[in-house]
Amino acid sequence: MNVFTDAVDLCHFCQSHQCSDYCLRQSSSKISKQRCRMGCGEEYPAASGKTPGWEITSKDLIIEDLCGFKKLSLKRNHPRLLQTSLYCLQAWRANCDVSIMIYDSDSSFPDLVKIAEVTDYVVSYACKENIAYSLEREQLKDFSRRLVLVSSITYFISFSLLIIGCV
Ligand SMILES: [Zn+2]
Repeated sequence: MNVFTDAVDLCHFCQSHQCSDYCLRQSSSKISKQRCRMGCGEEYPAASGKTPGWEITSKDLIIEDLCGFKKLSLKRNHPRLLQTSLYCLQAWRANCDVSIMIYDSDSSFPDLVKIAEVTDYVVSYACKENIAYSLEREQLKDFSRRLVLVSSITYFISFSLLIIGCV
């Protein structure tokens, strides 16, 4: 297998972004059109799901994302290709888009508040906002309740069998 061909095939398979209900959000100012929250722009025509994609660039740039955080935007030769590390992609063999956040501060005296803002942002992104986190928390509570219930039932059955002399 050719390593370059393998990387290209993987990029086509799992590193290409197509806008859908997952990423499209209603723009507050333009009711009929939606905007990609990943940065692929506004759909045109309205309700088509088609967006222009990311800008093709020949240089690596430092840009601000939609939340105002600085990040490294690598040069791009295709408007739908996600940023990635080809080494990670070929090892993982699944989606592994990479975003390098820029923390602009004096390294001798780091601003802990800014570090917390960046880590909160990363955790929020990784956890897909608070809805997923609250859903996960509710699922854990439900699981805990069931575990307690199962433990209680198991204890009751064991205790009952002990009383009737079966154990
Ligand atoms: Zn999109």
